[in-house]
Amino acid sequence: MKIMKFGGTSVGRPERMHQVKDLITRGTEPTIVVLSALSGTTNALVGIGEALAAADKTLAKERIDTLHAHYLAFYPALLQTAEAREKAEDIIKEHFEFLNILLKISFNEAINRDILAQGELLSTKLFYTLLGELQIPAVFLPALDFMSIDENSEPELEKISERLKAILAQHPNERLFITQGYICKNHRNEVDNLKRGGSDYTASLVAAAIQASVCEIWTDIDGMHNNDPRVVDRTRPIAEMSFDEAAELAYFGAKILHPASIWPAQLYNIPVKLLNTMQPDAGGTLIKAKVDTTGVKAIAAKDGITAIKIKSSRMLLAYGFLRQVFEIFEKYKTPIDMITTSEVAVSVTIDELSHLDQIVSELRDFGTVEVDQNQAIICVVGNQVAETKGALQSVLDSLVEIPVRMVSFGGSKHNVSILVDAQYKTQALKSLNEGVFDWN
Ligand code: ADP
Ligand code: ASP
Ligand code: MG
Repeated sequence: MKIMKFGGTSVGRPERMHQVKDLITRGTEPTIVVLSALSGTTNALVGIGEALAAADKTLAKERIDTLHAHYLAFYPALLQTAEAREKAEDIIKEHFEFLNILLKISFNEAINRDILAQGELLSTKLFYTLLGELQIPAVFLPALDFMSIDENSEPELEKISERLKAILAQHPNERLFITQGYICKNHRNEVDNLKRGGSDYTASLVAAAIQASVCEIWTDIDGMHNNDPRVVDRTRPIAEMSFDEAAELAYFGAKILHPASIWPAQLYNIPVKLLNTMQPDAGGTLIKAKVDTTGVKAIAAKDGITAIKIKSSRMLLAYGFLRQVFEIFEKYKTPIDMITTSEVAVSVTIDELSHLDQIVSELRDFGTVEVDQNQAIICVVGNQVAETKGALQSVLDSLVEIPVRMVSFGGSKHNVSILVDAQYKTQALKSLNEGVFDWN
Protein backbone atom coordinates (compact mmCIF):
# COMPACT_ATOMS: atom_id res chain seq x y z
CA MET A 1 0.00 0.00 0.00
CA LYS A 2 1.25 3.51 -0.71
CA ILE A 3 0.52 7.06 0.41
CA MET A 4 -0.04 10.02 -1.94
CA LYS A 5 -0.35 13.42 -0.26
CA PHE A 6 -1.47 16.48 -2.23
CA GLY A 7 -0.88 19.99 -0.89
CA GLY A 8 -3.02 23.11 -1.10
CA THR A 9 -1.94 24.25 -4.57
CA SER A 10 -2.43 20.73 -5.92
CA VAL A 11 -6.12 20.80 -5.00
CA GLY A 12 -6.60 24.58 -5.11
CA ARG A 13 -8.32 24.76 -8.49
CA PRO A 14 -10.98 22.53 -10.06
CA GLU A 15 -8.68 21.51 -12.92
CA ARG A 16 -5.94 20.61 -10.43
CA MET A 17 -8.34 18.33 -8.56
CA HIS A 18 -8.93 16.60 -11.90
CA GLN A 19 -5.17 16.20 -12.30
CA VAL A 20 -5.01 14.67 -8.81
CA LYS A 21 -7.74 12.25 -9.86
CA ASP A 22 -5.63 11.26 -12.89
CA LEU A 23 -2.52 10.75 -10.74
CA ILE A 24 -4.17 8.58 -8.11
CA THR A 25 -5.79 6.35 -10.71
CA ARG A 26 -2.57 5.75 -12.73
CA GLY A 27 -1.28 2.83 -10.68
CA THR A 28 -2.72 -0.39 -9.35
CA GLU A 29 -1.29 -0.43 -5.81
CA PRO A 30 -3.83 0.28 -3.03
CA THR A 31 -3.37 3.94 -2.06
CA ILE A 32 -4.29 6.22 0.81
CA VAL A 33 -4.73 9.73 -0.58
CA VAL A 34 -4.11 12.51 1.96
CA LEU A 35 -5.43 15.93 0.97
CA SER A 36 -4.73 19.42 2.32
CA ALA A 37 -7.24 22.23 2.27
CA LEU A 38 -7.53 24.25 -0.97
CA SER A 39 -4.70 26.80 -1.06
CA GLY A 40 -5.58 29.93 0.89
CA THR A 41 -8.34 28.25 2.89
CA THR A 42 -6.42 27.58 6.11
CA ASN A 43 -5.07 31.14 6.07
CA ALA A 44 -8.64 32.39 5.62
CA LEU A 45 -9.82 30.20 8.52
CA VAL A 46 -7.00 31.57 10.69
CA GLY A 47 -8.29 35.05 9.81
CA ILE A 48 -11.86 34.12 10.78
CA GLY A 49 -10.61 32.75 14.11
CA GLU A 50 -8.61 35.93 14.73
CA ALA A 51 -11.62 38.14 14.04
CA LEU A 52 -13.78 36.05 16.41
CA ALA A 53 -11.06 36.10 19.07
CA ALA A 54 -11.04 39.90 18.81
CA ALA A 55 -14.85 39.85 19.10
CA ASP A 56 -15.07 41.60 15.71
CA LYS A 57 -18.11 39.75 14.39
CA THR A 58 -18.55 42.06 11.40
CA LEU A 59 -15.08 41.26 10.19
CA ALA A 60 -15.53 37.55 10.94
CA LYS A 61 -18.78 37.52 8.94
CA GLU A 62 -17.10 39.34 6.05
CA ARG A 63 -14.30 36.78 6.01
CA ILE A 64 -16.71 33.84 6.21
CA ASP A 65 -18.69 35.27 3.28
CA THR A 66 -15.56 35.77 1.15
CA LEU A 67 -14.47 32.18 1.74
CA HIS A 68 -18.01 30.93 1.11
CA ALA A 69 -18.09 32.76 -2.25
CA HIS A 70 -14.82 31.04 -3.18
CA TYR A 71 -16.37 27.60 -2.66
CA LEU A 72 -19.59 28.53 -4.42
CA ALA A 73 -17.51 29.44 -7.48
CA PHE A 74 -15.32 26.35 -7.14
CA TYR A 75 -17.73 23.44 -7.29
CA PRO A 76 -19.57 24.18 -10.59
CA ALA A 77 -16.21 24.06 -12.37
CA LEU A 78 -15.31 20.84 -10.57
CA LEU A 79 -18.48 18.86 -11.09
CA GLN A 80 -20.76 18.43 -14.10
CA THR A 81 -23.81 16.38 -13.12
CA ALA A 82 -26.76 17.87 -11.27
CA GLU A 83 -26.56 15.09 -8.68
CA ALA A 84 -22.90 15.71 -7.85
CA ARG A 85 -23.43 19.47 -7.76
CA GLU A 86 -26.29 19.02 -5.34
CA LYS A 87 -24.04 16.97 -3.08
CA ALA A 88 -21.40 19.67 -3.22
CA GLU A 89 -23.97 22.34 -2.37
CA ASP A 90 -25.00 20.32 0.69
CA ILE A 91 -21.37 19.90 1.80
CA ILE A 92 -20.62 23.60 1.43
CA LYS A 93 -23.87 24.53 3.15
CA GLU A 94 -23.11 22.28 6.12
CA HIS A 95 -19.63 23.72 6.72
CA PHE A 96 -20.57 27.36 6.22
CA GLU A 97 -23.63 27.01 8.43
CA PHE A 98 -21.24 25.72 11.09
CA LEU A 99 -18.97 28.77 10.64
CA ASN A 100 -21.93 31.14 10.76
CA ILE A 101 -23.24 29.62 13.99
CA LEU A 102 -19.93 30.54 15.61
CA LEU A 103 -20.85 34.19 15.17
CA LYS A 104 -23.57 33.63 17.75
CA ILE A 105 -21.68 31.80 20.46
CA SER A 106 -18.72 32.66 22.66
CA PHE A 107 -15.33 31.92 21.25
CA ASN A 108 -12.59 29.73 22.75
CA GLU A 109 -9.45 27.90 21.63
CA ALA A 110 -11.25 24.58 21.08
CA ILE A 111 -13.68 26.33 18.73
CA ASN A 112 -10.75 27.88 16.92
CA ARG A 113 -9.28 24.44 16.24
CA ASP A 114 -12.66 23.32 14.94
CA ILE A 115 -12.63 26.28 12.56
CA LEU A 116 -9.16 25.34 11.30
CA ALA A 117 -10.35 21.80 10.54
CA GLN A 118 -13.00 22.95 8.05
CA GLY A 119 -10.55 23.32 5.15
CA GLU A 120 -9.46 19.68 4.96
CA LEU A 121 -13.01 18.46 5.60
CA LEU A 122 -14.26 20.53 2.66
CA SER A 123 -11.48 19.58 0.25
CA THR A 124 -11.74 15.83 0.89
CA LYS A 125 -15.53 15.79 0.70
CA LEU A 126 -15.55 17.75 -2.56
CA PHE A 127 -12.85 15.52 -4.02
CA TYR A 128 -14.74 12.41 -2.94
CA THR A 129 -17.83 13.79 -4.68
CA LEU A 130 -15.76 14.18 -7.87
CA LEU A 131 -14.67 10.54 -7.66
CA GLY A 132 -18.30 9.54 -7.12
CA GLU A 133 -19.41 11.50 -10.16
CA LEU A 134 -16.76 9.77 -12.27
CA GLN A 135 -17.70 6.39 -10.78
CA ILE A 136 -14.20 5.81 -9.45
CA PRO A 137 -14.57 3.48 -6.45
CA ALA A 138 -13.04 4.92 -3.26
CA VAL A 139 -13.52 4.83 0.51
CA PHE A 140 -13.82 8.02 2.57
CA LEU A 141 -11.64 7.70 5.68
CA PRO A 142 -12.34 10.42 8.27
CA ALA A 143 -8.97 11.29 9.81
CA LEU A 144 -10.72 12.14 13.09
CA ASP A 145 -11.51 8.41 13.44
CA PHE A 146 -7.84 7.41 13.66
CA MET A 147 -5.40 10.37 13.90
CA SER A 148 -4.66 11.44 17.47
CA ILE A 149 -2.17 13.37 19.57
CA ASP A 150 -1.38 13.04 23.27
CA GLU A 151 -1.31 15.68 26.02
CA ASN A 152 2.08 16.90 24.74
CA SER A 153 0.66 17.27 21.22
CA GLU A 154 2.75 14.31 20.06
CA PRO A 155 1.13 11.89 17.60
CA GLU A 156 0.13 8.53 19.08
CA LEU A 157 1.63 6.37 16.35
CA GLU A 158 0.77 3.02 17.89
CA LYS A 159 -2.85 3.91 18.45
CA ILE A 160 -3.10 5.48 15.00
CA SER A 161 -1.72 2.28 13.52
CA GLU A 162 -4.13 0.01 15.40
CA ARG A 163 -7.18 2.07 14.50
CA LEU A 164 -6.20 2.56 10.87
CA LYS A 165 -5.38 -1.10 10.30
CA ALA A 166 -8.75 -2.08 11.79
CA ILE A 167 -10.58 0.31 9.48
CA LEU A 168 -8.64 -0.82 6.40
CA ALA A 169 -9.34 -4.46 7.27
CA GLN A 170 -13.03 -3.72 6.72
CA HIS A 171 -12.28 -2.84 3.08
CA PRO A 172 -9.97 -5.60 1.83
CA ASN A 173 -10.88 -5.21 -1.83
CA GLU A 174 -10.79 -1.43 -2.16
CA ARG A 175 -7.95 0.37 -3.90
CA LEU A 176 -8.45 4.05 -3.07
CA PHE A 177 -8.89 5.67 0.34
CA ILE A 178 -9.35 9.42 0.77
CA THR A 179 -8.46 11.14 4.04
CA GLN A 180 -7.70 14.56 5.48
CA GLY A 181 -4.24 15.81 6.25
CA TYR A 182 -3.49 18.10 9.20
CA ILE A 183 -6.49 17.33 11.43
CA CYS A 184 -6.65 14.98 14.40
CA LYS A 185 -8.20 14.48 17.82
CA ASN A 186 -6.37 15.49 21.01
CA HIS A 187 -6.27 13.79 24.42
CA ARG A 188 -9.49 15.59 25.39
CA ASN A 189 -11.14 14.10 22.29
CA GLU A 190 -11.44 17.58 20.78
CA VAL A 191 -10.64 18.39 17.17
CA ASP A 192 -7.03 19.51 16.90
CA ASN A 193 -4.31 19.70 14.26
CA LEU A 194 -0.67 18.92 13.55
CA LYS A 195 0.32 22.62 13.16
CA ARG A 196 0.63 24.55 9.93
CA GLY A 197 1.82 22.48 7.00
CA GLY A 198 0.78 19.40 8.97
CA SER A 199 -0.61 17.39 6.06
CA ASP A 200 2.93 16.23 5.27
CA TYR A 201 3.15 14.94 8.83
CA THR A 202 -0.20 13.14 8.44
CA ALA A 203 1.11 11.47 5.27
CA SER A 204 4.27 10.27 6.94
CA LEU A 205 2.45 9.11 10.09
CA VAL A 206 -0.09 7.21 8.00
CA ALA A 207 2.79 5.69 6.00
CA ALA A 208 4.45 4.55 9.22
CA ALA A 209 1.14 3.36 10.70
CA ILE A 210 0.57 0.89 7.87
CA GLN A 211 4.24 0.41 6.89
CA ALA A 212 3.52 1.70 3.39
CA SER A 213 5.81 0.97 0.44
CA VAL A 214 6.34 4.69 -0.27
CA CYS A 215 5.14 8.08 0.94
CA GLU A 216 4.66 10.46 -1.98
CA ILE A 217 4.35 14.17 -1.19
CA TRP A 218 2.89 15.91 -4.26
CA THR A 219 3.33 19.67 -4.26
CA ASP A 220 3.88 22.68 -6.53
CA ILE A 221 7.62 22.28 -7.09
CA ASP A 222 9.78 19.51 -8.52
CA GLY A 223 11.30 18.34 -5.24
CA MET A 224 13.54 19.70 -2.52
CA HIS A 225 15.71 22.46 -3.96
CA ASN A 226 19.20 23.34 -2.82
CA ASN A 227 17.98 26.67 -1.41
CA ASP A 228 14.75 28.54 -0.74
CA PRO A 229 13.35 29.39 -4.20
CA ARG A 230 11.29 32.19 -2.67
CA VAL A 231 14.44 33.97 -1.55
CA VAL A 232 17.29 33.27 -3.98
CA ASP A 233 17.26 33.64 -7.76
CA ARG A 234 18.57 30.31 -8.94
CA THR A 235 17.96 26.97 -7.30
CA ARG A 236 17.89 23.39 -8.51
CA PRO A 237 16.15 20.22 -7.37
CA ILE A 238 18.07 17.56 -5.46
CA ALA A 239 17.59 14.06 -6.87
CA GLU A 240 18.38 12.11 -3.70
CA MET A 241 18.86 12.80 -0.04
CA SER A 242 19.04 10.84 3.17
CA PHE A 243 16.39 10.91 5.89
CA ASP A 244 18.86 12.73 8.13
CA GLU A 245 19.55 15.43 5.57
CA ALA A 246 15.86 15.91 4.78
CA ALA A 247 14.87 15.98 8.46
CA GLU A 248 17.48 18.64 9.15
CA LEU A 249 16.32 20.81 6.22
CA ALA A 250 12.66 20.43 7.13
CA TYR A 251 13.31 21.26 10.76
CA PHE A 252 15.46 24.25 9.87
CA GLY A 253 12.97 25.89 7.59
CA ALA A 254 12.63 24.24 4.16
CA LYS A 255 8.93 24.95 3.81
CA ILE A 256 8.34 22.12 1.35
CA LEU A 257 8.17 19.70 4.31
CA HIS A 258 6.58 20.02 7.75
CA PRO A 259 9.42 20.15 10.33
CA ALA A 260 8.55 16.78 11.91
CA SER A 261 7.50 14.93 8.78
CA ILE A 262 10.55 12.72 8.29
CA TRP A 263 10.88 10.68 11.49
CA PRO A 264 7.79 8.47 11.04
CA ALA A 265 8.91 7.38 7.56
CA GLN A 266 12.49 6.97 8.76
CA LEU A 267 11.34 4.75 11.63
CA TYR A 268 10.12 2.12 9.16
CA ASN A 269 12.58 2.97 6.40
CA ILE A 270 9.78 4.06 4.06
CA PRO A 271 11.10 6.07 1.10
CA VAL A 272 9.63 9.58 0.79
CA LYS A 273 9.27 11.10 -2.67
CA LEU A 274 8.71 14.80 -3.28
CA LEU A 275 6.91 15.26 -6.58
CA ASN A 276 5.31 18.03 -8.63
CA THR A 277 1.58 17.68 -9.37
CA MET A 278 1.94 20.12 -12.27
CA GLN A 279 4.90 18.21 -13.76
CA PRO A 280 4.26 14.63 -12.66
CA ASP A 281 7.04 13.16 -14.75
CA ALA A 282 9.83 15.40 -13.41
CA GLY A 283 12.27 13.42 -11.28
CA GLY A 284 11.55 15.07 -7.94
CA THR A 285 13.47 14.12 -4.81
CA LEU A 286 13.85 10.65 -3.36
CA ILE A 287 14.51 10.58 0.40
CA LYS A 288 15.84 7.29 1.75
CA ALA A 289 18.11 5.79 4.38
CA LYS A 290 21.50 6.00 2.65
CA VAL A 291 22.87 8.11 -0.16
CA ASP A 292 26.32 8.05 -1.71
CA THR A 293 26.64 11.74 -2.61
CA THR A 294 28.76 13.91 -0.31
CA GLY A 295 29.37 17.64 0.15
CA VAL A 296 27.02 20.58 0.62
CA LYS A 297 23.60 19.70 -0.72
CA ALA A 298 21.17 22.34 0.46
CA ILE A 299 20.63 25.37 2.66
CA ALA A 300 17.58 26.37 4.66
CA ALA A 301 16.83 29.12 7.14
CA LYS A 302 14.60 29.32 10.15
CA ASP A 303 13.74 32.68 11.68
CA GLY A 304 12.01 33.65 14.89
CA ILE A 305 15.02 32.41 16.83
CA THR A 306 16.16 33.75 20.19
CA ALA A 307 19.74 33.34 21.42
CA ILE A 308 20.47 33.17 25.15
CA LYS A 309 24.00 33.52 26.51
CA ILE A 310 24.80 32.49 30.09
CA LYS A 311 28.15 33.68 31.32
CA SER A 312 29.51 32.38 34.58
CA SER A 313 32.88 31.94 36.21
CA ARG A 314 31.31 28.95 37.99
CA MET A 315 31.47 27.15 34.69
CA LEU A 316 35.28 27.23 34.70
CA LEU A 317 36.62 23.71 35.32
CA ALA A 318 33.24 22.72 36.81
CA TYR A 319 31.15 19.72 35.99
CA GLY A 320 27.37 19.57 36.20
CA PHE A 321 26.97 23.19 35.09
CA LEU A 322 25.47 22.38 31.67
CA ARG A 323 23.13 19.83 33.21
CA GLN A 324 21.74 22.47 35.55
CA VAL A 325 21.28 24.89 32.67
CA PHE A 326 19.55 22.30 30.48
CA GLU A 327 17.26 21.26 33.32
CA ILE A 328 15.71 24.72 33.29
CA PHE A 329 14.83 24.38 29.60
CA GLU A 330 13.49 20.89 30.25
CA LYS A 331 11.33 22.14 33.11
CA TYR A 332 9.65 24.60 30.71
CA LYS A 333 9.41 22.07 27.84
CA THR A 334 11.47 24.37 25.65
CA PRO A 335 13.64 22.64 23.04
CA ILE A 336 17.13 23.95 22.39
CA ASP A 337 18.26 24.02 18.75
CA MET A 338 21.86 25.24 18.66
CA ILE A 339 24.51 25.23 21.39
CA THR A 340 27.99 26.72 21.50
CA THR A 341 30.22 26.84 24.53
CA SER A 342 33.41 28.49 25.72
CA GLU A 343 35.12 27.88 29.04
CA VAL A 344 33.09 30.57 30.80
CA ALA A 345 29.93 30.89 28.75
CA VAL A 346 27.33 28.90 26.91
CA SER A 347 24.99 30.17 24.18
CA VAL A 348 21.84 28.34 23.17
CA THR A 349 18.99 29.10 20.78
CA ILE A 350 15.29 28.46 21.16
CA ASP A 351 12.22 29.25 19.06
CA GLU A 352 9.55 28.42 21.62
CA LEU A 353 9.23 31.65 23.57
CA SER A 354 6.22 31.10 25.82
CA HIS A 355 8.38 30.65 28.95
CA LEU A 356 11.26 32.95 28.01
CA ASP A 357 10.86 35.21 31.04
CA GLN A 358 10.80 32.36 33.56
CA ILE A 359 13.75 30.65 31.87
CA VAL A 360 15.84 33.84 31.89
CA SER A 361 14.97 34.57 35.48
CA GLU A 362 16.06 31.09 36.62
CA LEU A 363 19.21 31.22 34.51
CA ARG A 364 20.22 34.43 36.31
CA ASP A 365 21.04 32.25 39.36
CA PHE A 366 24.06 31.01 37.38
CA GLY A 367 25.53 34.28 36.14
CA THR A 368 24.84 37.05 33.65
CA VAL A 369 22.29 36.33 30.98
CA GLU A 370 22.01 38.07 27.61
CA VAL A 371 19.07 37.59 25.26
CA ASP A 372 19.14 38.38 21.52
CA GLN A 373 15.81 38.14 19.76
CA ASN A 374 15.08 38.18 16.00
CA GLN A 375 17.86 35.83 15.03
CA ALA A 376 17.88 33.32 12.17
CA ILE A 377 19.54 29.91 11.92
CA ILE A 378 21.07 29.20 8.54
CA CYS A 379 21.46 25.47 8.17
CA VAL A 380 23.88 24.05 5.62
CA VAL A 381 23.19 20.38 5.01
CA GLY A 382 24.95 17.61 3.13
CA ASN A 383 26.01 14.03 3.65
CA GLN A 384 29.48 14.04 5.31
CA VAL A 385 29.58 17.83 4.94
CA ALA A 386 31.61 18.13 8.14
CA GLU A 387 34.27 15.90 6.58
CA THR A 388 34.20 17.28 3.07
CA LYS A 389 37.42 19.11 2.37
CA GLY A 390 36.90 22.85 2.02
CA ALA A 391 33.16 22.76 2.84
CA LEU A 392 33.37 24.69 6.11
CA GLN A 393 35.87 27.07 4.53
CA SER A 394 33.52 27.89 1.65
CA VAL A 395 30.64 28.44 4.09
CA LEU A 396 32.64 30.88 6.20
CA ASP A 397 34.16 32.60 3.14
CA SER A 398 30.67 33.21 1.77
CA LEU A 399 29.69 34.95 5.00
CA VAL A 400 32.64 37.36 5.35
CA GLU A 401 30.36 40.40 4.96
CA ILE A 402 27.88 39.18 7.57
CA PRO A 403 28.24 39.36 11.37
CA VAL A 404 27.95 35.76 12.56
CA ARG A 405 26.63 35.27 16.13
CA MET A 406 27.15 31.50 16.53
CA VAL A 407 28.58 28.61 14.49
CA SER A 408 27.80 24.99 15.24
CA PHE A 409 29.95 22.42 13.48
CA GLY A 410 30.72 18.80 14.23
CA GLY A 411 27.50 18.03 16.10
CA SER A 412 26.60 15.75 13.23
CA LYS A 413 28.40 14.82 10.03
CA HIS A 414 25.79 16.37 7.81
CA ASN A 415 25.19 19.83 9.16
CA VAL A 416 26.76 23.23 9.76
CA SER A 417 24.51 25.77 11.49
CA ILE A 418 25.12 29.48 11.62
CA LEU A 419 23.22 32.02 13.66
CA VAL A 420 22.85 35.55 12.27
CA ASP A 421 20.61 38.47 13.04
CA ALA A 422 17.39 37.95 11.03
CA GLN A 423 18.06 41.12 9.02
CA TYR A 424 20.98 39.26 7.36
CA LYS A 425 19.04 36.11 6.50
CA THR A 426 18.37 36.88 2.84
CA GLN A 427 21.90 38.15 2.27
CA ALA A 428 23.33 35.03 3.91
CA LEU A 429 21.18 32.67 1.80
CA LYS A 430 22.18 34.54 -1.36
CA SER A 431 25.90 34.66 -0.61
CA LEU A 432 25.98 30.99 0.36
CA ASN A 433 24.09 30.09 -2.79
CA GLU A 434 26.82 31.63 -4.91
CA GLY A 435 29.69 30.57 -2.67
CA VAL A 436 29.14 26.91 -1.82
CA PHE A 437 27.50 25.41 -4.90
CA ASP A 438 29.10 24.70 -8.21
CA TRP A 439 26.83 26.27 -10.83
CA ASN A 440 28.85 25.17 -13.89
P1 ADP B 1 2.00 22.33 -0.21
O1 ADP B 1 0.84 23.26 -0.19
O2 ADP B 1 2.00 21.40 -1.38
O3 ADP B 1 2.22 21.62 1.10
P2 ADP B 1 4.08 24.21 0.48
O4 ADP B 1 3.78 25.61 0.05
O5 ADP B 1 3.85 23.87 1.89
O6 ADP B 1 3.26 23.24 -0.50
O7 ADP B 1 5.58 23.82 0.09
C1 ADP B 1 6.05 24.01 -1.22
C2 ADP B 1 6.77 25.34 -1.31
O8 ADP B 1 7.92 25.33 -0.44
C3 ADP B 1 7.38 25.63 -2.65
O9 ADP B 1 6.43 26.23 -3.52
C4 ADP B 1 8.55 26.57 -2.32
O10 ADP B 1 8.21 27.91 -2.52
C5 ADP B 1 8.77 26.38 -0.82
N1 ADP B 1 10.16 26.01 -0.49
C6 ADP B 1 10.91 26.58 0.48
N2 ADP B 1 12.13 26.02 0.55
C7 ADP B 1 12.16 25.07 -0.40
C8 ADP B 1 13.17 24.15 -0.85
N3 ADP B 1 14.37 24.10 -0.28
N4 ADP B 1 12.86 23.33 -1.88
C9 ADP B 1 11.65 23.36 -2.46
N5 ADP B 1 10.66 24.20 -2.09
C10 ADP B 1 10.90 25.05 -1.08
N1 ASP C 1 -4.01 23.20 5.39
C1 ASP C 1 -2.97 23.19 6.43
C2 ASP C 1 -2.13 24.44 6.31
O1 ASP C 1 -2.33 25.24 5.43
C3 ASP C 1 -2.13 21.97 6.40
C4 ASP C 1 -1.32 21.76 5.14
O2 ASP C 1 -1.61 22.35 4.11
O3 ASP C 1 -0.37 20.97 5.20
O4 ASP C 1 -1.27 24.64 7.14
MG1 MG D 1 2.98 22.28 2.93
